[in-house]
Amino acid sequence: MALYRDEAVVLRTYKLAEADRIVVLFSRGRGKVRAVAKGVRRTRSKFGSRLEPGSIVELQLYEGRNLDIITQAERVVAFTNLRSNLDSYGRAALLLEIIDAAVAEGEANPALYKMLTGALRELERAGNPLVVPTFVAKFLVLEGVQPLVDACVRCGSSADLVAIQIHEGGVLCSNCPGGEPIGDSARLALRNVFDGRVRHVLDTTSEEVAQELETVAARLVEQHIERRLRASSVLYEQLQDGSNPS
Ligand SMILES: [Zn+2]
Repeated sequence: MALYRDEAVVLRTYKLAEADRIVVLFSRGRGKVRAVAKGVRRTRSKFGSRLEPGSIVELQLYEGRNLDIITQAERVVAFTNLRSNLDSYGRAALLLEIIDAAVAEGEANPALYKMLTGALRELERAGNPLVVPTFVAKFLVLEGVQPLVDACVRCGSSADLVAIQIHEGGVLCSNCPGGEPIGDSARLALRNVFDGRVRHVLDTTSEEVAQELETVAARLVEQHIERRLRASSVLYEQLQDGSNPS
């Protein structure tokens, strides 16, 4: 069996047998990996507590036939602030959920890995409510579905832009109904993130706009992931139909 090392974020864990856990990881070098941590549910386990969701860990693993086996885990960041603040912890949980839903097993994505660990570190450092919306905006860009925010995607008007709809590809004006409501400040903050001015947005956006952006971002990413999951299940059904001559 081959032994390898990788850095990873723990996305979630679940019980296996009496004392073991399956750990779902998003690793820098291999993308999403499911691995077994043996004996971690015993109280004297050396590394059980290091494998909590949200942890960034340096791991040593054996390549298994089905699941890899974790033989060492060292914490890279302790995340003491993040774990003691419910809001930050909730935000971190949402980021992990997005990655878990959007990333396929075995597909390395170093850019997304860097974004996720950067966002977790920022939550630990400042607990900033803009971490989720800026992450979501950059994630949509990476997924190739950056919404247009300067003109109505239905009629082209650049006046009275009041809503945003991921399926249609961007913002809508007051004459074109639908979408999630979005104010001018929130829309301009998105524009700044798309232009790479993330630090500026993190430092200058008011708390009220930050809250609005957080709601809008959660809805946008939810719509995007639903659509993605639906697309892949349609593709799966087509493949099934294709292999069945009846
Ligand atoms: Zn319009």
